[in-house]
Amino acid sequence: MSSDSIISIVWIYPDLLSTYGDRGNMLILARRAALRGLPVRTVEVRSDQPMPTTADIYLVGGGEDGPQALAAQRLIADGGLHRAVAQGSVVFAVCAGYQLLGGSFFAKGTQYAGLDLLDFRSDRGPTRAVGELGGPIDPRLGLPPLTGFENHGGRTHLGPSVSPLARVSTGIGNDGATEGAWRGKLLGTYSHGPALSRNPAIADLLLRWATGYDTLPPLDDTWADRLRAERMAATAAA
Ligand code: GLN
Repeated sequence: MSSDSIISIVWIYPDLLSTYGDRGNMLILARRAALRGLPVRTVEVRSDQPMPTTADIYLVGGGEDGPQALAAQRLIADGGLHRAVAQGSVVFAVCAGYQLLGGSFFAKGTQYAGLDLLDFRSDRGPTRAVGELGGPIDPRLGLPPLTGFENHGGRTHLGPSVSPLARVSTGIGNDGATEGAWRGKLLGTYSHGPALSRNPAIADLLLRWATGYDTLPPLDDTWADRLRAERMAATAAA
């Protein structure tokens, strides 16, 4: 946590990477921290502004191909996110933002360099992956199953030094077998937009990573739990 004991959360490039209500992830983190009495500062950093290097948590949202390519170029040129990660900041990335963390990705038929923060690369799949996405999360993270909604054309191929976030039981995710990726305090998922609303336990994981606390007081997640159970039952029956 920053020296002033406030959890600082940066939402990266809301002008480029906010196609799917990605602001929700920032609101959910701030709310869940506040409910534990943890002070939070949220900062929105537009693509024409320098990236702060000392925030505790960075959020990178989803986006269409053009804004995604522009975001990658600006983040690489800026270098601030790399410095923050080297200093131990937490990163949570969704869909286009997730693809950006790897070595390369395709947008509008062209290959672009990614930030190379995680060991994977993305190419294009034969179909667009649209629909429910879910499956058991890496047991080392101690979280309930992932549920979400995906909408992407890319496929992501993990290298040996990164772990899948989850195995896929519904949907496509990375490649039909695994979904998302994590290493250290960096976590990416194809679960769409405000993914933390459907997966509040991931929000708490990010807050624990940022604060260093082993546990946080539980909150009432009845609605998220019910939605998960309903969607898992519906996709199992389909
Ligand atoms: N443009 C990327 C793709 O289609 C990411 C899309 C998204 O963020 N939903 O794969």
